[in-house]
Amino acid sequence: MTVSVNRALCYGSGECAFRLPAVFTATDDGFGAVVPGREDTGDDPEVREVAERCPSQAISL
Ligand code: SF4
Repeated sequence: MTVSVNRALCYGSGECAFRLPAVFTATDDGFGAVVPGREDTGDDPEVREVAERCPSQAISL
């Protein structure tokens, strides 16, 4: 399962990168993003939890 961040919904809280930096990062302009090469981690329970806790529901699995 893949994971992605919808920039149109993300408001740059930084929580995803803070909680799970192995999978999430922040772009230069402050939006959440998936670390390149980690897009296939959507089955990981930790990734699922971070997605559920995103305050803007911007993380899709
Ligand atoms: S937790 Fe959600 S709103 Fe915050 S930076 Fe990550 S994707 Fe964006």
